[in-house]
Amino acid sequence: MRYDVIVVGARVAGASTAMLLARAGLRVLLLDRGRRGTDTLSTHAFMRAGVLQLSRWGLLDRIVAAGTPPIASTTFRYPGEEPVTVGHRPSPGVEALYAPRRDLLDEILVAAAAEAGAEVRHGYAVTDLLRDATGRVCGVVTPHGALRARFVVGADGIRSLVATAARARVLASGRNRSAVRYTYLDLAVPGTEWFYGDHAGGGVIPTNNGAACVFVGSTPARLRQLWTGDPDRAWRAALEQVAPGHPVARARRTERFRGWSGLPGFLRQASGPGWVLVGDAGFYKDPMSTHGMTDALRDAELAANALVAAFDGGTDGGTDGGTAALADFARQRDSLARPMLEASDEIASFDWRGAEVAPLVKRLSVAMADEVTLLEGLPGVEEGVA
Ligand SMILES: Cc1cc2nc3c(=O)[nH]c(=O)nc-3n(C[C@H](O)[C@H](O)[C@H](O)COP(=O)(O)OP(=O)(O)OC[C@H]3O[C@@H](n4cnc5c(N)ncnc54)[C@H](O)[C@@H]3O)c2cc1C
Repeated sequence: MRYDVIVVGARVAGASTAMLLARAGLRVLLLDRGRRGTDTLSTHAFMRAGVLQLSRWGLLDRIVAAGTPPIASTTFRYPGEEPVTVGHRPSPGVEALYAPRRDLLDEILVAAAAEAGAEVRHGYAVTDLLRDATGRVCGVVTPHGALRARFVVGADGIRSLVATAARARVLASGRNRSAVRYTYLDLAVPGTEWFYGDHAGGGVIPTNNGAACVFVGSTPARLRQLWTGDPDRAWRAALEQVAPGHPVARARRTERFRGWSGLPGFLRQASGPGWVLVGDAGFYKDPMSTHGMTDALRDAELAANALVAAFDGGTDGGTDGGTAALADFARQRDSLARPMLEASDEIASFDWRGAEVAPLVKRLSVAMADEVTLLEGLPGVEEGVA
């Protein structure tokens, strides 16, 4: 069987793209080398644009029904200054923000893709791309055999095999990288909190099961220095640096520590003949931005719209192979991504003390506001909010 689209990677970017393509009536195969319903590295925070997408797609109710707590406000804490709390202004489809655990979120998206008619296969590692006589990508190679499609979507994360095999060019790169440690604490907080210390930052994010996901980040060298000896003592010392005196340092830890050793951000070419990249595969920025999932949901829809337009333009992926529609997707993605990449890269330098980071945080939120404006202009997809 030949598919219209094979999507490689079944998490936030891939499952959403597959769902949208299947809802549009395309024959979609969604593959992942991993197991379904598993956890992955993330501190879970969705920005307004991410919640808006889940709402527009009719999936936010499932996140809420699973007991994900609403987040009503964000507090910014700079050393020596009074905390500043900003309430989230409810808007159509976004009554509050949410930070669902990844096993929950990713499974909701995969289930929605399957309900829409996508064929979902886990335990399928893609090892290469297939090309036709013209060099156009026309499928994937797996240990279970070759699978053919008009387009292949790489949603396979930071070390994307699809991007490598397609020889996607790197359009922009960051220079800095944060190392992050996070865990879950038995701590009820009404809103998200962001801490900025000297050359280090962190946050508290309310998530499922009455827990808060709490993280600290700094340069890899600085975090290594802090993280010596007893991990709980190192953890409290790190929290004391970014949020001195905050009750978070005394809360009971309910899960193991998780760590991320960092990678500079990048923006890769969004598409080429027969292939498209979404999510971290195409655009990765430092996790101190807590924005990767939000971007993944945005690009899922922009890329899906482009692919649907490509198929609408002809019976076999459009007369021009979908080039014009995919070029539009690339333009939109790049113009939103570049300011975010630049601001998050500067934050990840940790070359700031306390409130010196505020203008960078502001730059990031301006870029996020542009993203919300774009998404609000798209038609509601299911239980539309437009
Ligand atoms: C420490 C940390 C904290 C973060 N915190 C936040 C946060 O608070 N908020 C936020 O928005 N973002 C956060 N992020 C970023 C966010 O996790 C990513 O942006 C997001 O997971 C990207 O989703 P994705 O679907 O593109 O890729 P991934 O989630 O990486 O999924 C890729 C999938 O592709 C599959 N795959 C890979 N290779 C192959 C192959 N060859 N064949 C088949 N399948 C393959 C993998 O098994 C995987 O399931 C954080 C990241 C880190 C590291």
